[in-house]
Amino acid sequence: MRKRQVIITNKESWVQRWKFDKERIKEAIETLNIKGPISIRLDYKFGIGGEYEFYRNRHRVWVNLYEYFDFANKVLWHELCHVVQCEKYPTPTDYFKQYDLAGGNIYCAGYDDNVFEIEAQNFAEEWCGNLLLKKEK
Ligand SMILES: [Zn+2]
Repeated sequence: MRKRQVIITNKESWVQRWKFDKERIKEAIETLNIKGPISIRLDYKFGIGGEYEFYRNRHRVWVNLYEYFDFANKVLWHELCHVVQCEKYPTPTDYFKQYDLAGGNIYCAGYDDNVFEIEAQNFAEEWCGNLLLKKEK
């Protein structure tokens, strides 16, 4: 079995004092059968909890380092759902085309009606009891 490539960088929120739990995240990626490669990191953009993009042949997910523990955990599950969605398509380009057709993106109206976003929200609600982050002592 091919080993999945998971890269976790910049992994401690010095603002909210949590960090990515690498082992739990790897387990989640196994469970969701995400092929990868995938990188996960902390970042910051005003007003955005996190984002998913496909860049240089890799899934790239980031979570906003200002988010509280519970919300940040939910955001990470949400973004992982987008990775799962993407891998159902022949190519990421096909996925993003369908995503755009589904009505809007984060920057414009219609985000809440987008079936991919609705699925990701429900998915995050369902899975967020499993923690992918840990609190700093
Ligand atoms: Zn989303």
